[in-house]
Amino acid sequence: MKYFKPDFELHHFSDITADWLRKNQIKTIFSDLDSTLASHDRPAGDDLKNWISMLKKQDVQLIVASNNSQGRVDRFCEPNGIIGFGKCNKPAASRIEKHMKNVGAIKETSLFLGDQLFTDVWCGKRAGMKTALVKPIGQEHEPVQIVIKRKLERWVKSRW
Ligand SMILES: [Mg+2]
Repeated sequence: MKYFKPDFELHHFSDITADWLRKNQIKTIFSDLDSTLASHDRPAGDDLKNWISMLKKQDVQLIVASNNSQGRVDRFCEPNGIIGFGKCNKPAASRIEKHMKNVGAIKETSLFLGDQLFTDVWCGKRAGMKTALVKPIGQEHEPVQIVIKRKLERWVKSRW
């Protein structure tokens, strides 16, 4: 079960600070959207807007990589001036690897950030990046198939 263990377990995306980024030599963050950056199908909050300006100041690129529709990703990303890709087909890594090439990211300085082990962490590992798992935001808005996956995640985590 260690295979699924992320490099970092964080409480929230805002635990990633300028110092943290420097220490871990991260230049690009690929991030899941729903339950990682905002509640399911909700827009960005002020804490996210502040975090995005910190990343810009640090010259760290944020790329949203979601399995949700491109429409959802665009509605979320455009007002915040960030790049986002929908229908990423996580945990498969092929689309992420293609996006890495397109934005000029290399695995050594990339981080995959997400709230789901079998989707986000697994995908980041397959793409050869460092991985960070965060606690899901707004779980009360999650669809039922995600609630079921959470039970399996808890079982795997109990065996690390
Ligand atoms: Mg998610």
